[in-house]
Amino acid sequence: MPDAIYTLNDDPEFFSIRYLDHGDPARKSLLASQWQFFSRLDPSTRETYKILVRNTNPISEVIVDHLMPPASPEGRYRVETFVPGKHATTRKAIFTITHNLRPDEQGRTQFEEMLALVDMEMLIDVWVSLGIFYLDPSRHADIGRVRQYDLSREDPPREISFGPVRWVPVVSNFSNETRFDAPVGTPEEREMPFPSGRVMWGSYPVWVGEWLDGNPFLTWYSYGYHTGADLNLPGVSSADKGKPVYAIGNGLVTYAGSAGSWGNIIVIEHPDASVTRPDGQVVRQQVYSRYGHVDEHILVRAGQTVERGQNIGFIGLAAGNTSGWHLHFDISYTDVLKKRPAHWPDMTAVNAVRGSRGSHAYESARASVMRQVIDHYLDPMRFIQDNHG
Ligand SMILES: [Zn+2]
Repeated sequence: MPDAIYTLNDDPEFFSIRYLDHGDPARKSLLASQWQFFSRLDPSTRETYKILVRNTNPISEVIVDHLMPPASPEGRYRVETFVPGKHATTRKAIFTITHNLRPDEQGRTQFEEMLALVDMEMLIDVWVSLGIFYLDPSRHADIGRVRQYDLSREDPPREISFGPVRWVPVVSNFSNETRFDAPVGTPEEREMPFPSGRVMWGSYPVWVGEWLDGNPFLTWYSYGYHTGADLNLPGVSSADKGKPVYAIGNGLVTYAGSAGSWGNIIVIEHPDASVTRPDGQVVRQQVYSRYGHVDEHILVRAGQTVERGQNIGFIGLAAGNTSGWHLHFDISYTDVLKKRPAHWPDMTAVNAVRGSRGSHAYESARASVMRQVIDHYLDPMRFIQDNHG
């Protein structure tokens, strides 16, 4: 595994702070005086980093840049920033990652940037992914640049941290046989680097193109902890009605048909994938992908082999529902979906004590539902990110 490339906040060559120029030197010096500095230990690397902090501002006037060292080799990188466990309470830290450049119609250089939104409130001394990008720093000094803004407009203000940035090489040993793509989107969108870490303004993780996840993995809601992703197009509820659904990778269909309140589902067995187990261990093994609420016009049958990118069906509705079009998509690393294609965590214990929310009985029933999800399912966004190549 090649080493990550770091730029730390005391590295003047690659780190800089800018203040939006209002032509008012007093304003600029006030902004510059509002920083706090502190040190924080990274438990994963045992390194201590210098962290910059300020209160969020109703107007964005501060821009912090981390440049990728130009001698860094071309390749695929997971871009990450360190978020400390204190002084980082903003829910809307905005980052842009400059990942490509291309000429526009007039031949002028245009930079392509990806936006990432980070909720810092929940993060404690961790490196958070801002996405995976193919970067060639030899093309321009700004390729790989991570720019952080404060655009939160939070009132009252919260604290926003500006931590170090690193670029972690992503080793790709994927072939056509072992690569996985998103189950929705155009062929071009599914082919692109998987934009994990991108978040739509104010809310949902983006998968490909405009597709977002309206109900991310392990979200607690009335039916339990969500086992996967609910893939939606923005706008009206029927925006994704009838949109094609694709096999995420090569495999064998183990179920295709109706499944009670699910409506229709398809399950595919994939013989070889990279799996990050809940304890962090990475192994290669078989996985199952499930496509829920597809319409009755299913294009595959159980026992049939399919190829990555093959159209297997179309987005439909759960049985009895008349609204809420979306694709429910999940990944299991056990054989539970082979044995029980309609598997869902048992909510009996939770429903029995629903009236006493917050009680010990309720919390322990809820914890057992979470355990049932973690014991069988993977975060599907992380899975596609790890297997997209
Ligand atoms: Zn769902």
